[in-house]
Amino acid sequence: MIMRSLVQVQVIPLCLKNYFGSMVEKKVAKIGDSCINCGVCYGVCPFSAINEAGDSSGISDESVVNDEHYFVNTEKCVGCGRCCNGCPIGNIEIVDVN
Ligand code: SF4
Ligand code: SF4
Repeated sequence: MIMRSLVQVQVIPLCLKNYFGSMVEKKVAKIGDSCINCGVCYGVCPFSAINEAGDSSGISDESVVNDEHYFVNTEKCVGCGRCCNGCPIGNIEIVDVN
């Protein structure tokens, strides 16, 4: 009985932490350097979270703007993965926000 209570005391907080932790963890798309600027991801994103190279519109942090290829506005991205499925060269991954 005592052993069972000890297990419950340790397990329940861990379950709660994992449950609520997964609810607040934000994931976003990340475009890799192999981008060929085809624009497919830009067209399929339902949240207009992908910008063309050098386009800083809607970006509050200009340091994230990429002048070489399409990039993700992490403030708008919800990590739905639609762009990943659309990219013809598999150049987009979903990552945790740092
Ligand atoms: S993961 Fe979804 S919201 Fe984020 S850029 Fe891709 S399509 Fe847009
Ligand atoms: S779909 Fe892929 S290759 Fe095309 S612009 Fe987006 S990231 Fe680049």
